[in-house]
Amino acid sequence: MPLSPDQIAEIETARATQAPTLRAVSPGMEALLYRAIPVLDHGFIRVIDYMGDDGAIVQAARVSYGAGTKHVQNDAGLIRYLMRHWHSTPFEMCEVKLHVKLPVFVARQWIRHRTANVNEYSARYSILDREFYIPAPENLAAQSTANNQGRGEVLSGAESARVLEILKSDAGQAYDHYEEMLSQDGQQGLARELARMNLPMNIYTQWYWKTDLHNLFHFLALRADAHAQYEIRVYAEAIAACVRDWVPLAYGAFEDYRLRGTTLSATAVAVLKRRLAGEVVGQEDSGMSKGEWREFVEGWG
Ligand SMILES: Cc1cc2nc3c(=O)[nH]c(=O)nc-3n(C[C@H](O)[C@H](O)[C@H](O)COP(=O)(O)OP(=O)(O)OC[C@H]3O[C@@H](n4cnc5c(N)ncnc54)[C@H](O)[C@@H]3O)c2cc1C
Repeated sequence: MPLSPDQIAEIETARATQAPTLRAVSPGMEALLYRAIPVLDHGFIRVIDYMGDDGAIVQAARVSYGAGTKHVQNDAGLIRYLMRHWHSTPFEMCEVKLHVKLPVFVARQWIRHRTANVNEYSARYSILDREFYIPAPENLAAQSTANNQGRGEVLSGAESARVLEILKSDAGQAYDHYEEMLSQDGQQGLARELARMNLPMNIYTQWYWKTDLHNLFHFLALRADAHAQYEIRVYAEAIAACVRDWVPLAYGAFEDYRLRGTTLSATAVAVLKRRLAGEVVGQEDSGMSKGEWREFVEGWG
């Protein structure tokens, strides 16, 4: 359970307080506001605030004085046009602020996305909780033999149990030592900013993370992708589900053109044209490297 009863009560109190507004409101996002959506064993994402809706994208694109929307069909068509032609600034008019609880090794990948505003829980100021990400057995896999940056077969039996035991005991021992170093029992106790340095990367941290819809789509395209590491992908998938509720038209366009769509190199287009003309093309005469060809075949058979 990622939240304590007190934290859940705080969230429900926040949800019970309502204020009238003249601003654009997304019903899908209102239903999600403040609530924690569990991710991994102790993590979550929570929508803390948002600005704009599908109408805000259309409004900005038309530089309108009013709501900017015409008919849902016109709006959907315009949003799809903007997405198709990489006319990205109207999507930047929508923003979202999330509270995320995540393991430190996931945070290291996440923080590489620079086009966001971040404020992280201070382990100089506060003592970290004894919470570590321990993968479910089905997520303990061996190194992939085909992809240096990926996983292969799931570990089983004694090997899986051995790895889980190492992860748990290392985390427990590191946290015991962390507490021991902080302890002021008959001594000064080490500063929090120093004592934390023995903690492993699977300990949980938290941050507030704010970004706009254009950059969020970029984040999702990279991190909800099958090539992203499972532990960040599940966060991206949870966020994607929120975005679908927030801006259904924009999300639909994103899913179609970016998430499930594909871009092709000029070389790949030429190969496809030759194939359509009935020619049998192999990697050797395709002009593609082996890696490119493998990915091309994965997508096009
Ligand atoms: C599957 C996968 C594997 C990866 N492996 C590695 C790895 O092995 N090692 C590693 O170090 N990283 C790795 N990364 C991280 C990756 O290189 C990017 O740093 C990360 O995905 C953030 O992408 P971004 O820079 O496009 O995003 P953002 O930082 O959000 O930037 C969005 C866009 O803004 C522009 N931009 C932002 N800041 C600048 C700037 N300072 N200068 C110029 N343009 C800017 C760029 O166009 C950029 O694409 C990996 C990422 C993925 C998804």
